[in-house]
Amino acid sequence: MQQQISPLAVAQRQLDLAAEKLKLDPNIHAILREPARVLEVNFPVRMDDGSVRVFKGFRAQHNNALGPAKGGIRFHPQVTMEEVKALSMWMTFKCGVLGLPYGGGKGGVVVDPQTLSQGELERLSRAYIGAISALVGPDQDIPAPDVNTNPQIMAWMMDEFSKYKGGITYPGVVTGKPIIVGGSLGRGEATGRGCVIIIRETAKRLGIDLKTATAAIQGFGNVGSATARFLAKEGVKIIAIMEIDGGIYNKDGIDPEALLAYRAQHGTITTFPGCEPIDNETLFALDCDILVPAALENQITHENADRIKAKIVAEAANGPTTPEADEILDKKGIFLTPDILTNAGGVTVSYFEWVQNIMNYYWTAEEINTRLEQKMVEAFDRIYQMSQEYGVGMRMAAYMYSIARLAEAIKVRGWA
Ligand code: GLU
Repeated sequence: MQQQISPLAVAQRQLDLAAEKLKLDPNIHAILREPARVLEVNFPVRMDDGSVRVFKGFRAQHNNALGPAKGGIRFHPQVTMEEVKALSMWMTFKCGVLGLPYGGGKGGVVVDPQTLSQGELERLSRAYIGAISALVGPDQDIPAPDVNTNPQIMAWMMDEFSKYKGGITYPGVVTGKPIIVGGSLGRGEATGRGCVIIIRETAKRLGIDLKTATAAIQGFGNVGSATARFLAKEGVKIIAIMEIDGGIYNKDGIDPEALLAYRAQHGTITTFPGCEPIDNETLFALDCDILVPAALENQITHENADRIKAKIVAEAANGPTTPEADEILDKKGIFLTPDILTNAGGVTVSYFEWVQNIMNYYWTAEEINTRLEQKMVEAFDRIYQMSQEYGVGMRMAAYMYSIARLAEAIKVRGWA
C-alpha cells in the first residue's frame, strides 16, 4: 500500500495547496513543482569476491534561489528517482522554514547496505560521490547523512571528493562528518534534539505536561533513538517502539538508553525484557499523547489516520503523512508538527558545521546546542503564529512561510 503512493505526488500536492492559499505567481509555482536538476548515475563497484556490480544512484537539486543545495544521501533498496526528487523538495522547504541560506538537495543509492562488507560499503560510497562529483561542492551542493548513512560514510565521501580536487581537503563539501575531520559537536543527535524542542513547544501551547505524557515511536534509527532519549529526559514515558524487525510495548515505559545498550549487544530490540510484541498498526492506534513517525514516507495514510488517538503527531521522518491523512488528522483535532519543521534540527546543525568549516574555527557543544535551541524555538513560534493568524494547520503555515521567502528570492533574482 505505502509503496503505491508517490512521494513526489505528495510533495507536489502539499506545494499546490500552499500555492493556492498564497495566490502564488503561477510561474514561481511551476519552478517549484519540479527539481531544477536531477542526475541518475550507474556506477561499478568491485565486490569482495572479485566480481563487479553496477549500482544505480541519484542526486536531485530542487532549487538554489536561496543558496547551494543541501540534503542527505540515503542507501536503501527502495530508493527511486521520484522519492529522491520529493525529498529534495522537502529539503528546500525545510531550509526555508529555518531561514537557512540553502536550497534543497537529496541523493540516494539503490542498495541494502546490510548485505555489503565494510570494504564494499567504502568502495560504493567513494564511487557514488565520484559519480556525482560534478554537481557537488561547498558552494554548490552539500550532502549529509540520511537513512542508512553515517559519519564514516561522510568521511569517505569528503576524502574522495578532495582527491577529485587535486588533493586539497574540502571539509565543507559534506556535513555530518566525524569530529576529527571537521564534523560538528552535537550533529549526531541534532535531529532528535530538535524534534523534542518542537514537541516541548507544542505541548506548552496545548497545555500538555510532558512529565505525565506518553509517547509511541515508529523507528529506532539515528532520529528515532535520539528523539526517544531526549523525550525520556523531559519525563515522557515511551510506551512503544517499532523497528524494522518488530516492535515492543510496555505500558510502564521503556528506557531508551537501556534499549540502545541491549540492541548493541543482541542486535535487535524485539526481545527486550519486560515488553510485549506490538505491530505497526497497533502502535499507531495506541492511546498515547505523542506519536512520532521516525522511519520512512507514507506511513500515516487514509487507511490508518482515523485510528490515531495521539494528541500530537510529530513528524521526525520526512514525508510520513499523506495529504488525505492530514485532512483526517485535522478533523480529529490532532496537532501535527510537520517534518519540514520537526526534523529540521539535523540540517540546522549541518549548517553550523558548514559555517565552522568555512571559518576554520570550531564551537563548543554548548554553543551549538544553544544556537540550535534558539533557531528551533524561533521557527516554531513564527510558524505557530502564522497558523493562528491564517487559521491553517502547522504544515500549511510552514509551507506558506517558506514559499513566500523563496518567491521573494526568485523574483529579485529575475527568474519569474
Ligand atoms: N538527512 C537530513 C534531513 O533530511 C539532514 C540533511 C542535512 O543535514 O543536510 O533533513
